Amino acid sequence: MANTQSAYLFRSIKTSLIILTVSAILVTSMSVLLFSISEHEKLYVDSVESDLNGLSENMSNDLIPLLVNEIDKFELASVLLRLDRYPNIKIARVYKPNLTMLQEYLGRASSTLNSQEPISEIVDVENLSLGMGRGQSQLYAYKLIGDERLPLGYLYIATDIAGPIKQSNISLFYQVLPPTIISLLLAISIAFWLHHKMLFPLTQLSRFAKQVELSKDYSLRADIDGKHEVAELSCNINQMMETINTEVEKNRKQTYQLIEQQKTMERLANFDSLTGLPNRQFFMENLRIELARAKRDGQDVALMFFDLDGFKTVNDSLGHETGDLLLIEVSKRVKQYLREGDLVSRLGGDEFLILLYDSPDDLMLVTIANRIIDGLKEPFSVESWELQVGVSIGIARGRDADYNLSNFVSNADIAMYRSKMAGRGSYTIFAPEMMEDNKRKLLIASSINQAIKDNEFCLHYQAKVSPEEELIGFEALIRWNSSVLGFVSPGEFIPIAEQSGKIVSVTQWVLERLCKDLPEIQRQFKGEISVSVNLSALDLKNPSLLEFINHLFQLHDVDPKLIEFEVTESAYLENFDMATHFFQSLNELGCSIALDDFGTGYSSLSYLTQIPIHTLKIDKQFVDNLGLSDRNTLVTSTIIDMAKRLQLNICAEGVETREQFDFLVKSGCQQLQGYLFSKPTALSDLSIYAPLNS
Ligand code: C2E
Ligand code: CA
Ligand code: CA
Repeated sequence: MANTQSAYLFRSIKTSLIILTVSAILVTSMSVLLFSISEHEKLYVDSVESDLNGLSENMSNDLIPLLVNEIDKFELASVLLRLDRYPNIKIARVYKPNLTMLQEYLGRASSTLNSQEPISEIVDVENLSLGMGRGQSQLYAYKLIGDERLPLGYLYIATDIAGPIKQSNISLFYQVLPPTIISLLLAISIAFWLHHKMLFPLTQLSRFAKQVELSKDYSLRADIDGKHEVAELSCNINQMMETINTEVEKNRKQTYQLIEQQKTMERLANFDSLTGLPNRQFFMENLRIELARAKRDGQDVALMFFDLDGFKTVNDSLGHETGDLLLIEVSKRVKQYLREGDLVSRLGGDEFLILLYDSPDDLMLVTIANRIIDGLKEPFSVESWELQVGVSIGIARGRDADYNLSNFVSNADIAMYRSKMAGRGSYTIFAPEMMEDNKRKLLIASSINQAIKDNEFCLHYQAKVSPEEELIGFEALIRWNSSVLGFVSPGEFIPIAEQSGKIVSVTQWVLERLCKDLPEIQRQFKGEISVSVNLSALDLKNPSLLEFINHLFQLHDVDPKLIEFEVTESAYLENFDMATHFFQSLNELGCSIALDDFGTGYSSLSYLTQIPIHTLKIDKQFVDNLGLSDRNTLVTSTIIDMAKRLQLNICAEGVETREQFDFLVKSGCQQLQGYLFSKPTALSDLSIYAPLNS
């Protein structure tokens, strides 16, 4: 323990230096003290010696007259008694020339003589030489009295030296001690101060290092002051800091780049690059978490699914760039109608999903849906176009999907299709009954291909008659007697085939079947009986359909004049340019074109002068209401009147009563079609209508 403590003490330069310095000062001052004591002693002895010399000289001179004559002991003693003044004199003796002692004097210091020893033994003058001498603890003078040639006697005086020296040393020690202590303290303080001053830059460097460690700021620099070595050290440290700082900066830049790259990757992974909205993956992950949370807390969660009505038209007619810009604008606008916390995502194409924060009630859902519908109605300025799109919204709740993610999204999708069916710009809140519907839809969609292969479809033909009730043509209508679903009406499966993209194959099958049936129809009805065939909106976008028709006509040797294509007004107008181009080509081929379900969708009629059509088919709902409502009757006769002026044929469909027939004929209708004359009939049963033709 003590060892480690001392080791620790010496680990600090400062303490080591101070201990060394203080030791040096102590040793030096002790040496100086001892040296001065010994010098003092020497000087003292010299001075005592010189005094004793003088005293003994004087005294031997004074003794001469006493020894020349007869010796008077009393006189002798009184001379020696003069030594009483000198406290350190131990002994004085006067000897005859033959060295017999004449007189002895014992001084005050004689008490230090060893009383057991006879003084004669202590003072062994016989072996002494004349002059001054020094014994163990005394100084002595041994002087000749008288002249050398005629010695009268000898004087021996011994003075104590040890006691006085000790005394003198003690007094010297006490004199010197205070100034020594003061100078020692002074020296130590100065040493402390000097060390502190010299080591201060090192302490500063250490503090600097600590500051760097704590702040991690490598742009800090140490002060370059202090002695050469420390200044050099500071300089080196600063250079090292410079290097570290450069490295740290480099590292920081690299780290920043890495973080940026990571962010970009995250963005790419989680966000749609076109609109910047969260993408499907990110959205689904959030939805999964929200669903789990809602299920755990026994709450609900709401989802909106919407896609744009008419977006395909923009994309097809104005190009993908414009379509993309429109999507960007739409996503910007939609965000404005949402609340803080709602999460909107683009699934791809023109489909969007919104996760509604905090499970809003039905009223709130309706408010948000209406806000989006109304907001997106306003035209978008994209490039130089003023584009108008609508939106169909489907809304679903997590509880209805039993908190299952894919069912939840699929429910919103089902509701959205409901909205689409209901017409532009509407919303539908999912209800479980829609599920059954959807299951059937999925089954229908997935059965169509197999139905074509298994030859489950067939064509029925419905007669069209003239005002004279003569057969003038047929409309081919598809029929499906499914092995799985039983009889499925085209009113149900055609829209599903359109939505699922299967209509292309259906149309091809219909056209092919018609071409095959046509010779039989011509044979039965002996003449140029035309047959109408229905096309759907999607067929107008199929670029290979025209070629397919051409090929079929050639293959089956069909006279194009006998074929009329029916397309609904809305399908035509949704694909206006393409449809015009398509029907112009069919026109050139010799086919005629009829606008089906006329009057149901669009109020503007100005386009009728621009398109290559021959016939307007007045929708069944007008025929149904003839005579029931004055307004409807007026609209119907106006349509007929207008068509006449545009030199278009008029075909009325769904004629069921004589009254309807009479009114229509009176108004100028050239073609009539309906159960009044015939229901759609299989080819094999068509002959029963032969009398119509006769
Ligand atoms: P549409 O083209 O308007 O066909 C007329 C529909 O009215 C037919 O129904 C027909 O049977 C029915 N109909 C005719 N006269 C009367 C009548 O006096 N009273 C009543 N109540 N109904 C009458 P269908 O055959 O069920 O076809 C429904 C729709 O399915 C058609 O409407 C058409 O849009 C579509 N469709 C039928 N066959 C095809 C086809 O081969 N291709 C395409 N793309 N669509 C088809
Ligand atoms: Ca039709
Ligand atoms: Ca129709």
